Amino acid sequence: MLNYKNLADQDEEVMVAIKREMTRQTEEMEMIASENYVSKAVLEAMGTVLTNKYSEGYPGHRYYGGNTCIDEVENIAIERAKKLFSADHVNVQPLSGSPANAAVYFAFLKPGDKVLGLKLDHGGHLSHGHPVNFSGILYNFVQYEVDETTGKIDMKKVREVALREKPKMIVAGYSAYSREIEWMKFKEIADEVGAYTFADIAHTAGLIAAGEMDNPVPIFDVVSTTTHKTLRGPRGAMIMCKEQYAKLIDKAVFPGMQGGPHDHINAAKAVAFGEALQPEFKEYIKQVKKNAATLSDEMVKMGYRVISGGTDNHLIVVDMTSKGLSGKEAEAVLDRVGISVSRSTVPNDPNPPLNPSGVRFGTPAITTRGMKEDEIKKIATWINSAIDHREEIELLEKIKEDVKLMCLAFPIPSI
Ligand SMILES: *Cc1c(COP(=O)(O)O)cnc(C)c1O
Repeated sequence: MLNYKNLADQDEEVMVAIKREMTRQTEEMEMIASENYVSKAVLEAMGTVLTNKYSEGYPGHRYYGGNTCIDEVENIAIERAKKLFSADHVNVQPLSGSPANAAVYFAFLKPGDKVLGLKLDHGGHLSHGHPVNFSGILYNFVQYEVDETTGKIDMKKVREVALREKPKMIVAGYSAYSREIEWMKFKEIADEVGAYTFADIAHTAGLIAAGEMDNPVPIFDVVSTTTHKTLRGPRGAMIMCKEQYAKLIDKAVFPGMQGGPHDHINAAKAVAFGEALQPEFKEYIKQVKKNAATLSDEMVKMGYRVISGGTDNHLIVVDMTSKGLSGKEAEAVLDRVGISVSRSTVPNDPNPPLNPSGVRFGTPAITTRGMKEDEIKKIATWINSAIDHREEIELLEKIKEDVKLMCLAFPIPSI
């Protein structure tokens, strides 16, 4: 028997958990740099009957019937993404960032091939060669670093390591790096050693789409990104590449890595790309950057060591040992006052990855709520008081209340 009840009437157990998460998101401050709040329209597109469809293949070339409407949706997503990033070719089917990267490696490399990536405790991602990840297991990653004193990528060292190691691919684009990336220099080095260039802009895609950071898409061979971080779309990813690699990438995604695409998510990607093409999105991203810069200035003033001394994007990495606690401890203290952050390694971290020295703060989510410099300054003082007085339960309770009041004054868009 078909049952057409709504979720709330049909399954209280799941609905209660979802409602509690809605309350948490409403009342707490989201400063995890990889998170954001999607619009109502994006959320709506995800909850449509497009989830019912199988559409293995690509627009006009499907392995199932009934895909006329799905083709339209996927083509809209592709055209909008091309416009946003000035891309020759776009594949919007990757299910998430890591699978997208798997497809990129699968397209260009053989198991055992050498890849040059950023040292992981310097800001790289699991899928850039971590030994527990498929990337580190299947491919031979060698590493470049950030400069010890400036905290920025040392391009001289990149060239040195590239000339010595002769990698088949060079990866740039990171998870915990707050500075502009010299795409052109990476390309020159790659050309010198005959390596493919791969940019992973999972974190900064929104800033690049808005023209607020340099765009690697016209320069690099292939670029992957998630769609759910600064791009403010549904959880998912896409790959962009030069026309000459279009077939290689499409084959690597399907049938190489994946079966059927998630068409409801691709519809939501199209909606999010449509939003990112609007002038309001540029204003949003400009504010994201201003908020991150303000947070960085405030933290520096209060005596924290901000890695690289500042930020060009939406995030900062702060060494908490400058205040006598680890990143994990700081994460726990801030959790108690309703501020979510993620622990992070700092370059050449003396502490182990599970209990690293740093915390990563990001401004994309709170900027979506409409918070600006004045709110950031208040938040910075709350963070500092919570850290300084982490044993004082009553004070922590008071800060939690202040955090909640501010959050309630800046509702999230989709609730
Ligand atoms: C977040 C991120 C990814 C992976 O994204 P998932 O969707 O979580 O798999 C890949 N690369 C970088 C640099 C990231 O920051």
